Amino acid sequence: MRLKDEIALITGSARGIGREIAETYAREGALVIISDIKPEDCQLTADEFKAKGYKADAFACNVTSSADVDQCVEKILEKYGRIDILVNNAGITRDGLFLRMKEEDWDAVINVNLKGTFNACKSVSRAMLKARKGKIINIGSVIGVMGNAGQANYAASKAGVIALAKSLAREFASRNITVNAVAPGYIKTAMTDKLTDDVKNKILESVPLGRMGLPSDVANVCLFLASKEADYVTGQTILVDGGMVTY
Ligand code: NDP
Repeated sequence: MRLKDEIALITGSARGIGREIAETYAREGALVIISDIKPEDCQLTADEFKAKGYKADAFACNVTSSADVDQCVEKILEKYGRIDILVNNAGITRDGLFLRMKEEDWDAVINVNLKGTFNACKSVSRAMLKARKGKIINIGSVIGVMGNAGQANYAASKAGVIALAKSLAREFASRNITVNAVAPGYIKTAMTDKLTDDVKNKILESVPLGRMGLPSDVANVCLFLASKEADYVTGQTILVDGGMVTY
């Protein structure tokens, strides 16, 4: 078991990639805190995990609200005393060509993806700094590295969480806290299920491995970054994109 008795908070983990990361961590012995915007969805996922014999608990919060995040983190710390691993996974898209992009679509994406990551890092890192131990993983996107027509807001938010990881890696290194980013390519989840077949086929042409990724492809890299094997890895961005972007 690579994460035996570690306590991991994963935002946006009621479903999709976050849920897969949580299940992968739980399988490796971690106690996983399922956090998402809808309390009933968090509870459902945590209950499903417990039914499989995993250690799990549910703490809902809206990552855009620093008060909400602080309160949620306080409750977790009251109950469990520490958070060893934080995965900033909650994210949304509001796609549209730039000249037609509404200010509210810009704000919504920046608020969930970038400010949400800032809020959770701020709240959880206080406890990690005291404990002199921690692993933070920001879920970015290949779009935050290469940009994409129709996704200026999303690309900017994901470039932001990658840069935030690099900066916090430098600030927190002396306290034994690593901070990295994972940048998935096109992964099969509800977020990409809404794309048309035409768009999906176009995307596949740009993926050397010739298939969409699976949530488990992302979760396995997040497992490595949360494990002891990655103790000397910080400030990095690992692309999980089937070879779309190389540098
Ligand atoms: P999903 O939409 O399936 O899951 C995202 C989860 O985040 C949902 O449960 C959602 O809740 C939750 N969420 C949304 N807003 C908030 C909020 N304000 N506070 C707390 N939770 C919130 O997405 P994916 O699993 O596909 O994506 C997970 C992460 O991976 C995202 O950061 C995404 O940008 C990134 N990513 C995904 C890729 C893909 O191809 N799927 C590619 C690259 C990156 P609800 O649905 O109830 O609103």
